[in-house]
Amino acid sequence: MFTFEFLDAHHGDCFLVHWGAPHDRVMLVDGGPGGVYRATLRDRLRQLRGADGGGGPPHLDVVCLSHIDEDHVGGLDRLFRDMRQAQQDGDELPYTVGTLWFNAVEELVDRRAPGLSASVRPLLEHAASDTAFGASYQQGRTLRNATTALGLAGNAPFGGPLTEGAETVLDDLDVTVVAPDEKALAELEERWLEAKQRGDPGVISAGYTDGSVPNLSSIVLLLGHEGRTALLTGDARGDRVLSGLSALGLLDDSGPLHVDLLKLPHHGSDRNVEAGFFEQVRADHYVISADGLRHHHPSENTLRWLVESRAADDAYVVHLTNHIAFAEEELTRLREGRAFDIDVRAPAEQALLIMEGDPP
Ligand SMILES: [Zn+2]
Repeated sequence: MFTFEFLDAHHGDCFLVHWGAPHDRVMLVDGGPGGVYRATLRDRLRQLRGADGGGGPPHLDVVCLSHIDEDHVGGLDRLFRDMRQAQQDGDELPYTVGTLWFNAVEELVDRRAPGLSASVRPLLEHAASDTAFGASYQQGRTLRNATTALGLAGNAPFGGPLTEGAETVLDDLDVTVVAPDEKALAELEERWLEAKQRGDPGVISAGYTDGSVPNLSSIVLLLGHEGRTALLTGDARGDRVLSGLSALGLLDDSGPLHVDLLKLPHHGSDRNVEAGFFEQVRADHYVISADGLRHHHPSENTLRWLVESRAADDAYVVHLTNHIAFAEEELTRLREGRAFDIDVRAPAEQALLIMEGDPP
């Protein structure tokens, strides 16, 4: 079994990866914005089995936070708060968690420049309430503190931040980290140095048009199980995903990389990808996690680039986690004379189930 379950994460990401036999192993990737925990995620997690398929509290083998933007971390923050509350009250924990994968930005900065983050931390703490990045940074720290108090194994078995080229096998699930890459880490270091020199944390988030700090640090994973693969891109930039795949020897001149499932970067925004991205990465299942309400995601440009990268008779599915009128209209228009399918989660359905028990 290698099944993906995309919950309604509103404008964010929140999904479960199920793999393995005889009992289901489960990875939770991101928690959507805060409200998703009570609206959807909590009830779904309560249905999971205990560790090793037995009784006891629902068990998550891995929780992976791609990056610290509110539309990814908010729901996980609520989840770990629930666990902390139970711990403090002396109650049984509502869940057990094998390991948390999460790159704290300061750990990434320190990987290249040991000690640099400590000299900028006071500036960032001071700025926490005035900038979006300051708030995200603070949320990352809160999450780290909660999980430390819970005694959760951070980034096991990687032993540090998840960066390009790190690999592990987890009960027959092959995990390869595609991003962040060295170039992203170098850029983070440069921003932190500049903030330190100017004594101004604002330079960390200001004046850059090529991606926010959280997006630069976004974890991109390539998963493999039973001959099938999935590329999970968080909110990373498409060019960073491609350079990571190239560095890992997964992209060359012989043709595009084929994966069974591709979660599009950054909710299908056209600011993260170009037409060439879809020429180089092809999938049977393209998943867009968005609601089209807070942001115009997915962009019509992205949909057109995706569809135009494929032959008219190619069979594949474009999945939307929510009904989005403008996106469905564009896909319906693009579908004329083409063979692909469109799959939209019905409002009454708890989740989009993808690759559910179907043979390759
Ligand atoms: Zn996002």
